Amino acid sequence: MRVFISVDIEGVAGVVGREEGQNGNPEYERARRLMTAEASAAVAGVFDADPLAEVTVADAHGTFRNIIPELLDRRARLVRGKPRQLAMIDGVQGGFDAAFFVGYHGRAGTGDSILSHTFTGTLADVRINGRSFGEIGLNAAVAGAFGVPLKLVTGDRSVAEEVADLLGEVDTVVVKNGVGQLAADSLHPAAACDAIRAGATAALERAGRLFQVEGPVELEVDVSLPAYVDQALIIPGITRLGGRTLGYSAPDYLTAYRIVRLVGALSGLPL
Ligand SMILES: [Zn+2]
Repeated sequence: MRVFISVDIEGVAGVVGREEGQNGNPEYERARRLMTAEASAAVAGVFDADPLAEVTVADAHGTFRNIIPELLDRRARLVRGKPRQLAMIDGVQGGFDAAFFVGYHGRAGTGDSILSHTFTGTLADVRINGRSFGEIGLNAAVAGAFGVPLKLVTGDRSVAEEVADLLGEVDTVVVKNGVGQLAADSLHPAAACDAIRAGATAALERAGRLFQVEGPVELEVDVSLPAYVDQALIIPGITRLGGRTLGYSAPDYLTAYRIVRLVGALSGLPL
């Protein structure tokens, strides 16, 4: 069995603050170790289920250079660094039997959701055919486009609720409860790793969800400033739907996904 594990940091047990996701400060150095431990726990859970498994871990936060390679379970391969065409989920196109998302967070605007956002701080909402998607949905649909079912998502309680609402029957492991956006009531990291390891083993027994968004796709993006719509209008086919809302008609889901990333990247440029 081949398993692909995309790992973010905001949904890791114990992590609550922005500095914990930002390179260059002591809190980050601890958080990246916690992230690496949760990734290793998921890897171990796969090998508990199938000693002959092949596991690829994709570093999926910020610089994509957070997981400490020498501390990751040695049985996994590690995809790290950027830019990568499919960003957080890049590598999944290599052909896998299951995808896991570890350390994930709620979509932009979610309440009681630790460090909730969608790709960048500038995207206030992303709607695919009228439905609001965060990173869980956007990345699950990329995996689905390559025929890979999502079988496990870990993070805070809002993550489990988002998965249940958008994807239905996908296993989740809740490692902390949000007390607002920047505070949580969390499991101990070791207890979180135990739960993730057991959850990974159990999830492989189930079908998970092959989440496929059939084209064409009507994309709408709310950005945090009207200027970001002004900037996005440079992309052929983008239309302004409102002061802070843009639209795009995509022939297929992967094109819509690339446009979301492009709008996010453009909004990161100096105005
Ligand atoms: Zn992140």
